[in-house]
Amino acid sequence: MSENLSVQPTSNSHQCEQTTKSGARCLANTVNGSNFCFTHDPAFAEERTAARRRGGEHKHIAVLPADTPEISLKSGSEIAAIAERMINLTLRGEIDAKVSNAALGWANISLKVRGTIVLEERIAELEAALKMVQQPLPTLAEGRQPAGHAEKNP
Ligand SMILES: [Zn+2]
Repeated sequence: MSENLSVQPTSNSHQCEQTTKSGARCLANTVNGSNFCFTHDPAFAEERTAARRRGGEHKHIAVLPADTPEISLKSGSEIAAIAERMINLTLRGEIDAKVSNAALGWANISLKVRGTIVLEERIAELEAALKMVQQPLPTLAEGRQPAGHAEKNP
């Protein structure tokens, strides 16, 4: 398995224009209308230095590099790939268990919300179908008069 997360950004139009040390184009998304990601945008040099300084205070926490591509949990295969990656990183000690657990917590919320959305859509479909079934149909007796006017007659 590759050292990079296999999930690509959703749109290439927002992909950072910088080329990485390996010669490949940076996979991170651009920030705030710039052509570069946070890691490569010269405008963020000062913030990066500050972030590195803060990072130095927490050196024991192993996280993925700042230019790690955005992770998508939109499909089952993406979720499976991320889960596999996180398990391997955690077991090899390449990512802090706290970070891994935090990501797991958010992944669980994402999956639960996704399940709720699917259920809500199915309920809405069922309610719409039920409304169709409940439309009054003319019975044989009402067939002699226009439907819905029977109660108004003496
Ligand atoms: Zn970049």
